[in-house]
Amino acid sequence: MSRVPGQHKGALPTVRAFQSAVVRWTSKSDLPPLPPEEIDAKMRQSLLREWKNDREVQDLEKLGYALGVGKIILADSDIVEDMNGQYYCARRDPLKQFKFRVTGGYEKSLNLWKLSRKQRATINRTFRSGRDVILVAYQASGDFPATLAHELGHYINHTLWGLSRVEAKLPGECFPVTQNMRRVARFDEAHLLKNRDEFYAETWSRFLCGGGSRTLLRYLQRPLGRLRTRHPEKARLIERHRIKAIREKRNWLNTRGVVNDEQPGIADCG
Ligand SMILES: [Zn+2]
Repeated sequence: MSRVPGQHKGALPTVRAFQSAVVRWTSKSDLPPLPPEEIDAKMRQSLLREWKNDREVQDLEKLGYALGVGKIILADSDIVEDMNGQYYCARRDPLKQFKFRVTGGYEKSLNLWKLSRKQRATINRTFRSGRDVILVAYQASGDFPATLAHELGHYINHTLWGLSRVEAKLPGECFPVTQNMRRVARFDEAHLLKNRDEFYAETWSRFLCGGGSRTLLRYLQRPLGRLRTRHPEKARLIERHRIKAIREKRNWLNTRGVVNDEQPGIADCG
């Protein structure tokens, strides 16, 4: 992302946090989330291995860094069960600075995570450099790719200006989803229809994971158009990732003999 004008070393920029709940296209999401108290050191090691060995996760992580995300961290969280990830936007904005002074800001939200001192230091260092942070909870195991893709969706919305300037600057509550968005989304969780930011983040998640119906993905035409104008290289990376994800999704489904009712085309949103 571009450096924030006037930002000086040592000062933490305003950080916005976005709560997430995600759904995955594979059957893995049928697994219930792991209760935080059941995650001990041994299990954490095993989940970290799952994260590192999941090619879909690794591709998404690589994409995130290529798009300019400052840090993606797998961390402990003992928050409400449908909060598997969080995106922190480090853009300095006087309006949001005010908002965060009132609400307690990102620190309050970070306190909901059980972060090690090393993770805290990494996060603060990343914020100081004006870059964004994505946290994914160990509890999202089984949904790691969709969780990460959803947070990347928030990053695209806010930092790459997938949302319009007005939508990105004002609080999400100002932009409820339309009836039509609701109708085509078919998202299982109400949280994902809370506002347009969530709607688009989840739609990007489907896009990046190689899913999403044509009618749903039509909503990405305008954001993609904005991205192609402002960040043509990054738009290409995102579109290339989509093509790769579709191929891998088809292979995954074919090898298991699963009939995919969505069958998204490679040219979707093109
Ligand atoms: Zn979200």
